[in-house]
Amino acid sequence: MPAKFYRDYSDFLSEHFGCKVQKLTVNAGFSCPNRDGTKGYGGCTYCNNQTFNPEYCAPSLSVSDQLRRGREFFARKYPDMSYLAYFQAYTNTHSDDIERLMGLYEEALSVEGVVGLIIGTRPDCMPQTLLDRLAALPAWVMIEYGAESACDVTLEKINRCHTWADTVDAVNRTHRAGIPCGLHLIMGLPGEDEECMLTTVGRVNELPVDTVKFHQLQLVRGTRMARDVEQGLYDIPRFTAEEYADLCVKMLARLRPDIAVERFVSQSPSDLLIYPRWGLKNYQFTNMLNNRLRELHEFK
Ligand code: SF4
Repeated sequence: MPAKFYRDYSDFLSEHFGCKVQKLTVNAGFSCPNRDGTKGYGGCTYCNNQTFNPEYCAPSLSVSDQLRRGREFFARKYPDMSYLAYFQAYTNTHSDDIERLMGLYEEALSVEGVVGLIIGTRPDCMPQTLLDRLAALPAWVMIEYGAESACDVTLEKINRCHTWADTVDAVNRTHRAGIPCGLHLIMGLPGEDEECMLTTVGRVNELPVDTVKFHQLQLVRGTRMARDVEQGLYDIPRFTAEEYADLCVKMLARLRPDIAVERFVSQSPSDLLIYPRWGLKNYQFTNMLNNRLRELHEFK
């Protein structure tokens, strides 16, 4: 077994489950408060939600049908697998109707083989009443908040329509409710230099966070950011894969060691992705990073 230089997501999951678990993405047809005017209009400048839906998950199908399709997809290869329903697309707590939300989550938990939920949402979209109801569910639940950066200037620039203080509040309340929580962070946002990104990691360390997902900023077709960059209004920080791996090494050196890292890169569909086009699959980048960490460790 190769040495590990950071806590990874499989370590985190094996602490909670005595079996192999696989996330199944669900699109429950939610909207986003940053598009429908509840928080803002137009969405985050980098966002094109077409980038995060696997084929088996179509919002025209019920939550349970999507999960059954996902389970069939994996069960051929891994018959003993258990599953986590991952409410990923858009903002999966964006409804004033808490009974409707709970109905969707409970529907997911009723599907054979589903042993827990992961709910992706915004940090300004988690009312305490919903947290209390989630904490009372007889199943494992985790919340994943899109924090993106700890820098409010950046958050404003990318039209997130929430602040770092919202993230601090949501994470603290989630932790107090006894629910594990993860943060999603984007590296390479416009105007951010290395020190700024490392400062975000430092501020994450101050919070009771269980996991993080890092990913490189991707410039995607159809987004406001792609238009702005094309028109020369500003540019985004640009990294080669090797330079980004070096940044990841520095982030890991700063990250609290008990926080598990779920990913370092993300991969938008090739026909939508403008930049970066490194030509590496996620696992290939992670292997490259792990090799880099191993070399640094050996030459210390
Ligand atoms: S990134 Fe999330 S919050 Fe921002 S526009 Fe897209 S779905 Fe909405």
